[in-house]
Formats: sequence, C-alpha cells, structure tokens
Amino acid sequence: MEKIYMIPVNDAYSSADGCPLCRLRDKAEQNYLEYYLGPSLMEPDTRIITNKTGFCPDHMGKLNRSVTNRLGLGLMMHTHLKDFNDDITADLCNAAPQKAGLIKGRNTDYKAKLSSIADRIDKRVAMCPICDNMNDAMTHYIEVICWMYTHDPAFKDKFANVPYHCLPHLSMLLRQSAKLSQNDAAAFVSALAEKNKDAFAGLIDDVEWFTLKFDYRNQDKPWGNSKNSIQRSMRFLSSDGRDFDEQSGKKQA
Ligand SMILES: [Zn+2]
Ligand SMILES: [Zn+2]
Repeated sequence: MEKIYMIPVNDAYSSADGCPLCRLRDKAEQNYLEYYLGPSLMEPDTRIITNKTGFCPDHMGKLNRSVTNRLGLGLMMHTHLKDFNDDITADLCNAAPQKAGLIKGRNTDYKAKLSSIADRIDKRVAMCPICDNMNDAMTHYIEVICWMYTHDPAFKDKFANVPYHCLPHLSMLLRQSAKLSQNDAAAFVSALAEKNKDAFAGLIDDVEWFTLKFDYRNQDKPWGNSKNSIQRSMRFLSSDGRDFDEQSGKKQA
C-alpha cells in the first residue's frame, strides 16, 4: 500500500472533529489550488492541460479569491481563452441555419449541429484538472482506508473513534467495502453503520431542540449542542463546508 496516502489518512483519523474524509478532501484541494497557482502555471506541460481544460466554476472562484500569482492566473486565462475560441468560434459562426425559403425548403440538419456545439461547450466548461486530481486522490484514500482497516489494528481503533462520516463519503466507503472479503466487510460496515446511526440520532435531536428553542417557554433553557445544529446537519448531508459555517448563519440572524 502506498505510504504517501497512509500518512495523511492516519492524520485525518487522529482528529475527533467531523468527517475525516472531508478533511482529506479539503487538504488535497488546498494542495492542488496552491500547485496550480504556483510555478507549475508557467510550465509548458501544465499549460497544455490548462489551455484545454481551464477550471470548473467552483475552482475558478477559489483561484480568484486567492491573492497569490495574479500574473500567472492572467497568463493561464489568456491562453485558455484563445484555445477555447479556436475550438468553437468558427463552428459557432457557421451554426446559424439558413432561412427556409421557397426554393431551398426546410432542412433540419441544423438541429443536430446546434446540440453538438452546445455539448462541446458544456463538456469543456465542466473540465477541471483540480477536480480530476482530487477525485484521483480520494479514490486512493478510500482504498487505503479499507486496506488499513483490515491490516492495521491501531488504525481500526482510530476508525472507531471518529464521530461520523458525512453521507457522500459514507457512500464512497460503502462502494469500496463491496470489494472486501465477506468477513472484512462485516466488521468494516458494522463500524460504519454504528457511527452513522449515532450521528443521525444526535443531529435529529439537536435540530429538534433548535426548533423548540423558538417556543417562548424554552427561551431561557440552555441551547446545549443545538446552536450550530443546522450547519452541522448541512455538512453531514452534503460533505461541503463552503456556505455552512457557523459565521454565515450568525450574519443572517
Ligand atoms: Zn465527508
Ligand atoms: Zn474543479
């Protein structure tokens, strides 16, 4: 098993805060954002990729919010725009159908042509090397987690002590556990299920108390763990922390 994946997996499972796979994902994302904003942006091999792909809307936003290497970002954007333009603009200009007249009659060829250009645009807009790299890294992490669970007793204990796996990451672990032997899968899935049963129960109680706190009779009773239960539930359901931090909840209130 690859050591470079085992060390971050061990680190992520050493903290008792939320989903360990979300932490691994966030860290991988940060590394790749830094990579694409770093000297690599000037390397021909990287530029061949980014000229073709650009970045997905989410990662363009994250690159834009970063204040480092505005020049690199500008140069990358310039050659990407040129590449995209060379790919589609000529076809786009030829895509408008000729008006049907008495002599020329109707021709429905243009319909397929228009959807094919639209498909090409959609495909290119969705391309993103950061997403691709993160997906690769997550695939390795998931494989390593299942391997370590079945080969490393110390890791098995750590696994039992994390609070939960968010639902999208639970699903990834379940798919990988289908590749384990029946006995290994029995232990792994039981541990997963136990965690997530408790996580559901805790969140359901906390969110209920959150709603009951709006009753004037409960006004002076303590919040307990309920104050950030909406945001914690959102993170549990979506594996995404972007807009679900406690601060943005406070701003709205
Ligand atoms: Zn997660
Ligand atoms: Zn992306």
